[in-house]
Amino acid sequence: MYPIKTTHYVRALTLSVFALLLSGQVTAKDWLVNTPKSYQNVLKKVKSGDKIVLANGTWNNFEILFEAEGTKENPITLTAENKGKVFLTGQSNLRLAGKYLVVSGLVFKEGYTPSSEVISFRKNKTELAFYSRITEVVIDNFSNPDRFESDYWVGIYGQHNRFDHNHLVGKRNKGVTLAVRLTTEDSQENHHRIDHNYFGPRPIFGSNGGETLRIGTSHHSLTNSFTTVENNYFDRCNGEVEIVSVKSGKNNIINNTFFESRGTLTLRHGNGNRIENNVFFGNGVDHTGGIRVINRDQIVRNNYLEGLTGYRFGSGLTIMNGVPNSSINRYHQVVNAKIENNSLINIDHVHLAAGSDAERSAVPKSSVINNNLFFNENSKAPFSVFDDISGITFSDNLSNKLTDNKISSGITEKNLILKRAANGLLYPTSDISGVGVSKELQPTQKNQTGTAWYTKAEPDVAFDSGKSTVVQAGGESLYKAIKQANSGDILVLDDGNYSIDKIVKLDKTVSINAKNRHQVTLEFGRSTLFEINNGGSLSIDGVVVSGKSSADYSGNTFVRTAKWGMFKNYRFAMKNSVIKDLNVNHSFHFLDSGSRAFAQSIDVENNVFENITGDIFRLNKEIDDLGIYNVEYLNIINNTFRNVEGMLVNLYRGGSDESTFGPHILLKDNTVNNVGNGKRNKSKSVISLHGVQVSTIDSNTFVKSGLIDIEHTVGEPKTVVQNNTFNKTAAPSVKELHAKGPHTAVLLNNKQF
Ligand code: CA
Repeated sequence: MYPIKTTHYVRALTLSVFALLLSGQVTAKDWLVNTPKSYQNVLKKVKSGDKIVLANGTWNNFEILFEAEGTKENPITLTAENKGKVFLTGQSNLRLAGKYLVVSGLVFKEGYTPSSEVISFRKNKTELAFYSRITEVVIDNFSNPDRFESDYWVGIYGQHNRFDHNHLVGKRNKGVTLAVRLTTEDSQENHHRIDHNYFGPRPIFGSNGGETLRIGTSHHSLTNSFTTVENNYFDRCNGEVEIVSVKSGKNNIINNTFFESRGTLTLRHGNGNRIENNVFFGNGVDHTGGIRVINRDQIVRNNYLEGLTGYRFGSGLTIMNGVPNSSINRYHQVVNAKIENNSLINIDHVHLAAGSDAERSAVPKSSVINNNLFFNENSKAPFSVFDDISGITFSDNLSNKLTDNKISSGITEKNLILKRAANGLLYPTSDISGVGVSKELQPTQKNQTGTAWYTKAEPDVAFDSGKSTVVQAGGESLYKAIKQANSGDILVLDDGNYSIDKIVKLDKTVSINAKNRHQVTLEFGRSTLFEINNGGSLSIDGVVVSGKSSADYSGNTFVRTAKWGMFKNYRFAMKNSVIKDLNVNHSFHFLDSGSRAFAQSIDVENNVFENITGDIFRLNKEIDDLGIYNVEYLNIINNTFRNVEGMLVNLYRGGSDESTFGPHILLKDNTVNNVGNGKRNKSKSVISLHGVQVSTIDSNTFVKSGLIDIEHTVGEPKTVVQNNTFNKTAAPSVKELHAKGPHTAVLLNNKQF
């Protein structure tokens, strides 16, 4: 150990002599430590006011237990020699126990916690942290590589703790990013403060367990938490349907910004919470939502919501129906909700008495919606009403002229013109005093959160964002060029043949473009050409793919993911290409997903697929029915599929969990001729969609092809099959596997002959 200072502590000199005499504190030391062993030795000696300083560098497999007793005036600090220069990697974590502790300046990356939390405000079930603070700490992609192995990044226990100015980004495995735990009495009525944190992009998890922040659990939900969540920035927190899940009472969620985050701030359990001065910018992004109200005495005041597209439980504003005499983990009735002075601008949906069904029959009561501004540029009223809403009183609200408004009183229509003010928010140009959000509202800016010394980087490298390199014909030259490319680079292929005899394992974003359309032929000798690994994304434009010289085995593919256990979402795009003669043996597929691989998007446009013995899209590997699936957005536009023995799409999302927005499929303007009729395609389907949440099959021509087989499971799947031609092809089959009654798909204007 190396005490930096052994003389009187400099900072102490600023305290008055009187205070010094009273506290008896005359020296405080800074201890610079270089190894876990010296850290442990120093920890035994630290006194209030001392600082333990971790030396700059990488600390691999370091499980830190920071257990000490500081005082209010002289906390004990654990920090970095230089903030941002101390890295905790490998199997590392941090536990705090005691009082008046401060931790700052550390970066967790390139590893994951061996325990259930990266940062824990407790040593064990009984020894917790109080009056302690974590500030300017980074957790960057510190995710367990097994996506379905769950952990929390931060578990806050104890009371009066603060978590501020931290940077949390890229949680990829199951489990809440930050959880306030109310497990024992020592952690209830906790008065924690969670403020000025940067919650950076959290990728779509594709299952339940992707919440960014949760306070409590249903079990302790009738307990008060008194937690304040203030001035945080939620940047594209897309894990699942709940961004913030409040599951306890008397919390304050104040002045946070939600930027393009899919999901909602949900008052799932617990009473008397206050949601005030928050700003939601959806910018029209799919499934961006606002606030969902459940339970008693909730206040939703002076919040600004703009450009949110979400519907159903993910709407801009949702007020739920409850379950009469609800058990603790179901839905308690909304009573005495106050929804006041909010601005809802270009919000597609406001759902009232949402979720009304045989079980959820307790309608909202004694609630008010007062002094809110509703403005929809497209003049469409946002309201959907699912049950009796006489228990919600509307008064003194204002809107622009809306069509089809289901709310008959309490909203005055006016001609309104909006203008963006200096604070970045829209306000009517006319005087509407007392309605909508106050002009004083200042949205929390991204740069006011997290820490200045750690960059808020973009989560994905965009296609075509790097440099362009021309590649001469020849398999080896392409193989080498891919190896040497940096993420985002574009490889422009000269005319000619590229025959590759190795599997290309992709761990970066690459675009492969033909210099001249259809003057480039890709052939391959192994069981696959491209294997997408963690970090890999692939875009292809203008090539001809031929399976002619592929190995004479069954089960080849053109592109596949790693066969098991990918933990980074990938993107695949292909356009203007010809894929032909994948028929050297049977079951030669185009794209095959591995189990636990998840595509953020698959976009194929303007291609021809012909003479193929296998399936085109195999996205059906999550058969354990846990609400998991292999692709979020599958877009297939303006392609021709001819003579394909297997299926065009096999997409499976099993299980009864409702925490995902996807999967989505869009199949538009395609010609599908003689697809799905091979003897090995036992289903005889051309398209099989199980549990898909949003399906649009529009303006396609099917000739002599298999059945479109759609199975609705949970949620409220949106299925539209319209303007298609079915020539010598059966009409689509739609079944409800869970809901009773007729199916809910829209089948419109399809021609059958
Ligand atoms: Ca959830």
